[in-house]
Amino acid sequence: MGLLIKAAAVTNQVQDILIEGGRIRAIGPTLTAPLDYPVIDASGLTALAGFVDCHVHLREPGFTDKETIASGSRAAAKGGFTTILAMPNVDPVVDSPALLQAQVVRNQADGLVHIQQIAAISAELTGATPVDMAALVEAGAVAFSNDGHGVQEAQTMYRAMQLAAANHTIISAHLEDDSLAAAGVVNDGPAATALNLAPLTSLSEETQLARDLLMVAKTGCRYHVCHVSSQTSVNLIRQAKAMGLPVTAEVTPHHLLLDDSMIDSDEPNLKMNPPLRSRADRLALIGALLDGTIDFIATDHAPHTAAEKTGSMCDCSFGIVGLETAFPLLYTAFVKSGLVPLSTLSDWLTHHPIDRFHLTDAGRLRVGDVADLTLVDLSATYPIRAADFASKGKNSPFIGWTVTGRICQTLVAGQLVYAGQAAGEKA
Ligand SMILES: [Zn+2]
Repeated sequence: MGLLIKAAAVTNQVQDILIEGGRIRAIGPTLTAPLDYPVIDASGLTALAGFVDCHVHLREPGFTDKETIASGSRAAAKGGFTTILAMPNVDPVVDSPALLQAQVVRNQADGLVHIQQIAAISAELTGATPVDMAALVEAGAVAFSNDGHGVQEAQTMYRAMQLAAANHTIISAHLEDDSLAAAGVVNDGPAATALNLAPLTSLSEETQLARDLLMVAKTGCRYHVCHVSSQTSVNLIRQAKAMGLPVTAEVTPHHLLLDDSMIDSDEPNLKMNPPLRSRADRLALIGALLDGTIDFIATDHAPHTAAEKTGSMCDCSFGIVGLETAFPLLYTAFVKSGLVPLSTLSDWLTHHPIDRFHLTDAGRLRVGDVADLTLVDLSATYPIRAADFASKGKNSPFIGWTVTGRICQTLVAGQLVYAGQAAGEKA
């Protein structure tokens, strides 16, 4: 059985898309299909390759009151994402081949989209000895990360990089020196002072990044920087790339769109790690994305319960949800504003993460590829509302923002995994 999508805009031309066996069989102006094939009328909509998010927290097992594989992947589908990379900081931590295999089974059973599993760098995210990387790669780990925590011991990271290089895999690094981060909750700047909140210096990120880049030069390890947040980090990455090191970097939508000059109250949904930095840092991140120093965008989707995001930033949890707001926020800020063409946003959300993580099973909207795609209405303008989220997490600082660009349908391997908006969701 197949499917025919009629009259979608594909790179500015109105095209039909014929899907058979989960793959794109043809793209052309007037395609025909057997009479029993379902037809999706996509007139007025734009077809894009499904988005890829290489930094997602699905919270299962261990924290299913925050999110589950089912709810998180439903949020992904609703956000236009067709492949997501799940972080290993669940309970138990994904740090052994047996646990990884169990996680892969769960991801496949409950996931609405393609879910690739990242494994921990060290046992329990804290151990001094790296995990058995060869066995974990063999078991299907797509990359290695202690996300949520920095790797405190240089020797642990050095050994992990040697193993990653030997096993042709990738280290995805959350950078945070605990001795510098202390118990900080917002950027070390005017907002921390004005609101009397503990400061979290960007040095905690930058010193680990500098350390790691020296070891990348020594080991040749493929190294990816999670959620870059500061101008100094950008400069270090730019220098590393100029030296030819195998380094890439991601930035989150919130670090591109928010900074600590916008924190004027003790608001839990403005607490994330790394924290929102200064306006100068934010502008440096945008500049680095535009010039290619930062390679792509990842959401760091971090759902929490309402109770965990209530009260003061002093003691609420770090992180915000991102899967369902990423595309409209980025489309509105970067494409509708005229800063970049839509194809560049596709590079940031699809092509560059596919390239970096060698995701050969992810589709790019080409004939022969897996039919991973999303149909978007680029004329729809509407407010972001927590009630519309498929994620269990409603923790977003973007609630109430007016955005343009609505995900209407999402297909994964030719299967419709999201169709249409919830009642009353129209602008
Ligand atoms: Zn992180």
